[in-house]
Amino acid sequence: MPFFDIFLKADYENITTLRLHKDTSLFLSCECQGCREISDSFMALNRNEQTSISGSRGTANLVFKCKSCKKECSVDLVSTFDVTDDNKPQQFAKLECRGCKPSELSLRDGFEAISEAGNTFDDIDLTEGEWYGYDEDAKVPLGITNVEIKINKC
Ligand SMILES: [Zn+2]
Repeated sequence: MPFFDIFLKADYENITTLRLHKDTSLFLSCECQGCREISDSFMALNRNEQTSISGSRGTANLVFKCKSCKKECSVDLVSTFDVTDDNKPQQFAKLECRGCKPSELSLRDGFEAISEAGNTFDDIDLTEGEWYGYDEDAKVPLGITNVEIKINKC
C-alpha cells in the first residue's frame, strides 16, 4: 500500500503553529495508476467519511472510479501533523492510496493557527495561498504567506 507524505512550506508572521482542523476536508486530484489519467476535478478527502470499497469488506475515506478506465481507486487520510514556523517544508499530512497517486492538492478553508501570543485562530482560509489576521492581545499582525505544497512518495 503506497503512502504519500504531504509537505507544507509557508512564511509565517507571528504564527507558531498551523494545522488542519480534524473535521476539515482536503481537496485533491489523483493520477490513476492503471491508465495515468489525472482526475479533472478536486475530490474531497475527509477522515470522518467512510465509503465501502467494491469487492472487499474494507472502507476508505475517499473512493472513486477513474473516468477513463473505470478502475476503482481509494484514498485514506492516515494522519495530519502540526506544522511549526521553521522555514523549511514540514510534513502536514500522510495519505494512503490504492490504485492512484495524489497529483495535486488544493488548500481551502478549515485551518487553525496559533499565534506567538498563544491565541488560537480557527477557520483560516488558505485558498489564495495566504492569510492575514491580527492578534488583539499582542497587538501584532499575523500572516501566513507563500504557502507551497509538495507531495512525496514514501
Ligand atoms: Zn484509469
